[in-house]
Amino acid sequence: MKYKRILLKLSGEALMGDNQYGIDPNRLAEYAQEIKKIVNLGVEVAIVIGGGNIFRGVAGASKGMDRVQGDYMGMLATVINGMALQGALEDAGMLTRLQTALKIEAIAEPYIKRRAVRHLEKGRIVIFGAGTGNPYFTTDTAAVLRGIEVGADVILKGTRVDGVYTADPEKDSTATKYETISFADVLEKGLNVMDTTAFTLSQENNLPIVVFDMNKESNLLKVCQGDNIGTTVY
Ligand code: UDP
Repeated sequence: MKYKRILLKLSGEALMGDNQYGIDPNRLAEYAQEIKKIVNLGVEVAIVIGGGNIFRGVAGASKGMDRVQGDYMGMLATVINGMALQGALEDAGMLTRLQTALKIEAIAEPYIKRRAVRHLEKGRIVIFGAGTGNPYFTTDTAAVLRGIEVGADVILKGTRVDGVYTADPEKDSTATKYETISFADVLEKGLNVMDTTAFTLSQENNLPIVVFDMNKESNLLKVCQGDNIGTTVY
């Protein structure tokens, strides 16, 4: 396998499936099967999940809500998604732990780096909930932060687009995909891979990001095997 320890970032919206809101149990079950393929081959898997399918702080703030209050609601949304994913992974026979940046003792361990690493070494999937625990950040930043902390080899950003394009492929039909691109080129060309905070953190710590389509069967496995799937930002 190309990667021994990965940090998989899934957006909250990915869990909606074909719905407009919330969590689609079928999509969760599909993701669990995809993740199982790499766990069975010995890849250590940490996961950060977003909350955009339930609540985003910015959206609340745009309607007059206090931004900080809204961001905490967004962080709690990521915990709900984390619990749903945990259930699906366990139903599929995998061992998991949920660790949250905000303490919710009845349902999750508090985030403790050493403990997270130990779980990974023992083959347990560790899901990190509640983002970074701070308002004004995103779960992309949480993904890079946790990835660096636990010594992941790579951030795998599973999205519905299959890589980084010269322009937005959903708007511009002439857009072409990069197989690899440097951090510096992404910045120079003004391409959108992650928000600036997350992106800079990744660049400064030499943690590569692979953007790939998580909804195609076995793509996650192929990325871990080193196949030419998606775009690698290095
Ligand atoms: N959030 C936050 N701090 C963090 C991570 C997330 O305040 O460290 C809040 C923020 O309001 C964000 C929401 O949680 O809008 C959901 O996360 P995100 O938008 O990153 O989810 P995704 O777009 O990946 O579904």
